[in-house]
Amino acid sequence: MSGQLAVVGLGPGDARYLTPEAQDALSSAQALYGYAAYLARVPARAGQSRHASDNRAEEARAAAALGDAARGARVAIVSGGDPGVFAMAAAVCAAVETGPESWRALDLTIVPGVTAMLAVAARVGAPLGHDFCALSLSDNLKPWPLIERRLDAAASAGFVIALYNPVARARPWQLGSALERLRRHLPLSTPVVFGRAVGRPDEGVSVTTLAAADPTQADMATLVIVGSRETRVIERAGRAPLVYTPRVAAEVSA
Ligand code: SAH
Repeated sequence: MSGQLAVVGLGPGDARYLTPEAQDALSSAQALYGYAAYLARVPARAGQSRHASDNRAEEARAAAALGDAARGARVAIVSGGDPGVFAMAAAVCAAVETGPESWRALDLTIVPGVTAMLAVAARVGAPLGHDFCALSLSDNLKPWPLIERRLDAAASAGFVIALYNPVARARPWQLGSALERLRRHLPLSTPVVFGRAVGRPDEGVSVTTLAAADPTQADMATLVIVGSRETRVIERAGRAPLVYTPRVAAEVSA
C-alpha cells in the first residue's frame, strides 16, 4: 500500500478561512503532524494520531511525517496560512530531495491556504493591488545583510512589501532596523499597516505612516505591510481608513 502526505494550509486563524480541500485532507488523515499551536486549531477526531512538535523542528517533523507515509499511512502536516509561504511545504520538498528514494514515490499533495498578507490586506482595502513582494525578517535562516539588500531593492523598485516574522523574542531589533532602512528610500508619509492575529479573537489592525510606525507595536503574530510611493489612504468618517495601491503605476520609482 502506498502512503499519502498532504501539506495543509489552515489559513490565518478563523475556521471560515479553511478551504473545503483542506478540510477533506484533515478529516481523511490517519496521522496529523504540526507545530503544537497549529495542531490545536484542528478539532480532534477518533482514531487519528497527533504528533505535535516545536516550531523550529521543521526538518525532523517533515522526516517523521514522510517516514509515516512511506509505511503506508495517510498523513497530513499542518501549517498556518499557506504551507508554501515561509512554512512546511519547502521543508517537505527539501526532505524529499535528500531523503530515501521511497519518499519520491509517495503521493504528495500541497493544499494551499489563505496566507497572512492576503488576510491583512483584505482587512484594510487593497494595499497589494499592484506589484508587491513578501520578505521574512527572520535572520535565523539567512544573514541580515541579505535582508537589508532585499529591502533596499524592493523599496527602490517600487514594490509594496509584506514583512513576515517581523519580530521574535530572540530577534527584538530587526523590525526597527528594517523600517529605518526603508525610510532611506520612501517618503515618510508612506502608509504602513500592522495586522495582528488576523482571523483570531485577539485580532488588531492599524494603519500608520512610515514616519510614525512603531516597531514595538508588532509581535510574532503580526504582519506588516509597507506601501509603495503609489499607495494611498482614504479617510472615511466613522469608519477605518481604506488603504490601496492603484492598479495604474504613475511613475518610475527612483
Ligand atoms: N505560512 C504562514 C506564514 C508563516 S511565518 C502564512 O502563510 O501566513 C509566520 C508569520 O506569519 C508571523 O510572524 C506573522 O508575520 C505572519 N502571520 C501568520 N498568521 C498571522 C495572522 N493571523 N495575522 C497576522 N500575521 C500572521
